[in-house]
Amino acid sequence: MAAYIGPVDRDTEVLVIGAGIVGALIARQLAESGLDVSVVDAQAVASGATRRSPGLATPSLQRAHRRQTARGVEMLAGLARQHHLNPRPVSALHVASRPDATDALRSLAAELQADGLDATWEIDPAIVPGAFGGGLRIANSIMVDPVLLATRLLQRRNILVKQKVEIQKLERAHGRVLALAQGYSVRAGAVVLATGAYTGLLSPYLADAMRVARGALWRSHPQPATLACQSVPVVVDGGRIVATQTDDMRVCVGAWRWDDRTDGDPARDAHTYLDAHMPDLLTETEMWLSATCIASRDGGPLIGVLSGDNHPSGGSVFYALAPGACGLAWAPVIAEQVVTLALRSRQA
Ligand SMILES: Cc1cc2nc3c(=O)[nH]c(=O)nc-3n(C[C@H](O)[C@H](O)[C@H](O)COP(=O)(O)OP(=O)(O)OC[C@H]3O[C@@H](n4cnc5c(N)ncnc54)[C@H](O)[C@@H]3O)c2cc1C
Repeated sequence: MAAYIGPVDRDTEVLVIGAGIVGALIARQLAESGLDVSVVDAQAVASGATRRSPGLATPSLQRAHRRQTARGVEMLAGLARQHHLNPRPVSALHVASRPDATDALRSLAAELQADGLDATWEIDPAIVPGAFGGGLRIANSIMVDPVLLATRLLQRRNILVKQKVEIQKLERAHGRVLALAQGYSVRAGAVVLATGAYTGLLSPYLADAMRVARGALWRSHPQPATLACQSVPVVVDGGRIVATQTDDMRVCVGAWRWDDRTDGDPARDAHTYLDAHMPDLLTETEMWLSATCIASRDGGPLIGVLSGDNHPSGGSVFYALAPGACGLAWAPVIAEQVVTLALRSRQA
């Protein structure tokens, strides 16, 4: 295979590919450790799944992921405050569309309390959307603007951001990595893939490990009144639907299809939810956005170094992929883990 012999446009200690919330958190931490960091994005800062997220950061209900994601929510709140954003404390209301899943949610409250979460069974009809009857309310959640947060995290002297650069190929040469885009190239001591659902285009290995979920986000015009879902966002079936109202009073309904089936349209799912629970709002569409984000086989994140790539002399390619529904809660946790890996490998 012919190696690249053209000019190199930028030489950097670390290149972060992808300027979503995950890439921004990683770049910031690496820069705060004193490294010279470059960030490239195929589009613009926070233009992928991060822009589609209405911003509910809430712990995962899955036992294996509960503690880490709860810690992630706290970390995200701290970072948001540090960057002069105002993370709003909310409770997430988990409801289920099947009776057996509703029973399972009801019996989960005690277990969550034992894990230190403030969880109660909510039946107030002013809060629980009709047809659900009850829901598991978890207070340890926040609403945050992930686009603004990513943008502010990247504003630092030793972070250089270049937008509209799509890396198409990674090559190894002399213990360093060459990242090649159309008409632009970067040579880096290490590369971090924070490329979300597009990671499979750069790594066939990771394409096999992750699943891409289809998502859609519906957003209303600003509403004159505060709805119950502003302080208590609703999460249906573990994240198939999320309904909330943001600080600018817009109602957002996100929907995903996590499963491997190819049928079914998440936009239609969001539409059905709106029709059933907020029919008056249905016509107030500000925009529909479709998106992809990732889901892993066990609901956990994917973090590591590409196999066979961990050279003590540098040149490693790390990856950090946050799975959807709790992607925002995972983001600071996986950023911390991949930064630790990258710094350790530099010292080796
Ligand atoms: C509709 C919807 C609603 C959601 N709602 C929530 C929610 O309420 N709460 C929650 O916790 N999570 C939510 N999520 C999930 C959450 O948004 C994601 O988990 C999180 O934003 C992932 O961030 P990221 O930085 O990994 O990915 P992204 O934000 O997708 O960032 C990846 C970036 O990499 C860039 N890129 C990709 N390939 C290349 C390349 N080759 N070269 C250069 N750049 C490249 C892309 O342009 C993109 O900007 C939602 C997702 C969707 C789709």
